Amino acid sequence: MSRFLFAAMFCCLLSPHVYTQPNDTWYNLVGSAYIDNASYEMLGRLCDEAGGRLMGSAANDRALEIMMEELQSLEIPARYEEFTAPGWTRGNDIVRVESPFKRTLRAAALGYVEGSEVQATMFYAAGGHRPVYDSLSTTIHGKIALVTQERIQGEDQLLRYEVIDIAAEYGAAAVLFINDKSGGQVLCGVSNFEGRPSRIPAYSITYEEGKWLQRLLERGTEVAMTISTESKCSEVVSSNIISTLPGRSGKKIVIGAHFDSWDVGHGGVDNGQGTAILFDVARLLTRFSPNNRHTLEFVWFNGEELGLWGSRKYVEAHRQDPILAMINMDMTGTPRGFNAMGFNELIPMLERIHASLKGYNLDRGVTSNPWTNSDHMYFMFEGIPTLTLHAHLEKSMYQHYHDFGDTFDKVDKKYLSDAAAVISVLGYELANQPERAFPRYTQEQIKTLLIEHNLEDRLRRQGEWKFGD
Ligand SMILES: [Zn+2]
Repeated sequence: MSRFLFAAMFCCLLSPHVYTQPNDTWYNLVGSAYIDNASYEMLGRLCDEAGGRLMGSAANDRALEIMMEELQSLEIPARYEEFTAPGWTRGNDIVRVESPFKRTLRAAALGYVEGSEVQATMFYAAGGHRPVYDSLSTTIHGKIALVTQERIQGEDQLLRYEVIDIAAEYGAAAVLFINDKSGGQVLCGVSNFEGRPSRIPAYSITYEEGKWLQRLLERGTEVAMTISTESKCSEVVSSNIISTLPGRSGKKIVIGAHFDSWDVGHGGVDNGQGTAILFDVARLLTRFSPNNRHTLEFVWFNGEELGLWGSRKYVEAHRQDPILAMINMDMTGTPRGFNAMGFNELIPMLERIHASLKGYNLDRGVTSNPWTNSDHMYFMFEGIPTLTLHAHLEKSMYQHYHDFGDTFDKVDKKYLSDAAAVISVLGYELANQPERAFPRYTQEQIKTLLIEHNLEDRLRRQGEWKFGD
């Protein structure tokens, strides 16, 4: 062993740079997050000037341009990274009751729905399970299934993809999903996770109109409907936006948020909030912590709502990159704590940060409960430690997500500062930890982590279980 190498190793052992104590950088990051709040105005432009940012749409392309302009104006270097993915365009779809009286329903086609006109009567299929169809005395073929999204006691709730497949198997012509919450919300979502055209048209309808139809059917009243679907699937070229702040080690920490939103609203909260917080985090770290041990990569993922396309493609394209950890922000509000997502080795560091941020109400502490179906999922599958924030959103923010009411007026300016302050401190700390703080999990360890946290069943059902039997 050379004397140099020995000295270098000794140095490493003596000075592991485990800060996790407030220093001048912390004060700069937190102070500027509140004093400057650079993200609120930017988000206002995104929502109000571009509209709902569905991947592949003109609105999404316009929003990408606005974000790029805004990043450039703050001298934050950024680039597009293109990818192709299955896209989908919402057409002028009509879901209309013809009898007992005419009424056009408030309805939203699920992503990847296309199809021709359906004129048929309707039947009530409860939660959409097979035994319901088997027990129906009338013929199902060519009719429209009305399915509730409310939890039915003693029954496992099916995923919407499963409901559609079962209905198609029994010959139904379309499915209408009754939203489980009242208040006129239609909950947008996708009809399947693979981005393939849905087997039959499927729509989300409101609780109020759905319950009305359910009552009619339960009373034996015939309900006739017309559904005309102009929505269409097509491959699209879209982009993630990436900003890289190079570090010394050549390894990197990814901080991500999805940029796209559903089209019926403007994506103010989902995920305008994550988009805006990440914007400010990139500004804060570029300005106040330009020299770090590890590279920080800020990624605005596109196409999350249609099936995590941007993060899937990023993980595919960067499989060889030495990524140490990933932080994901999806509908992030004011911080309440940290989630180590099953990567328990990160807990002590998170606890030190948690204990040092005394002015925050981080009452949910540091937990370690992984969840799936947002942009961290494919990083997690690769064994990369992922982190999320526990955060609080107002009820009004949840009430409108994936719907018409998800607009800029729902965004809380202070929440953006709260989260930008905490996430920038977290990003700074991660970027300066020794590499050993981030153990990469093997496929076997990830499999165990997912099984231990009861995620296997859900992943199998959506066709995302890649860890063998
Ligand atoms: Zn989201």
